[in-house]
Amino acid sequence: MTTKCPICSRPTEPTVRPFCSRRCADVDLKRWLSEDYILPGDTPADFEDMEPGDLRH
Ligand SMILES: [Zn+2]
Repeated sequence: MTTKCPICSRPTEPTVRPFCSRRCADVDLKRWLSEDYILPGDTPADFEDMEPGDLRH
């Protein structure tokens, strides 16, 4: 049973699954984060505890 990378649909690499490469994993992470930040006025309480500087690293 072959799993496909959700970003580019290539075969998944076990070391970075469910993605095919670190690059696709990074793309998905950034996409997920940006979608989360776009939500207007509906910030999860957990984010309020984080310092803004930590998110920029
Ligand atoms: Zn990929």
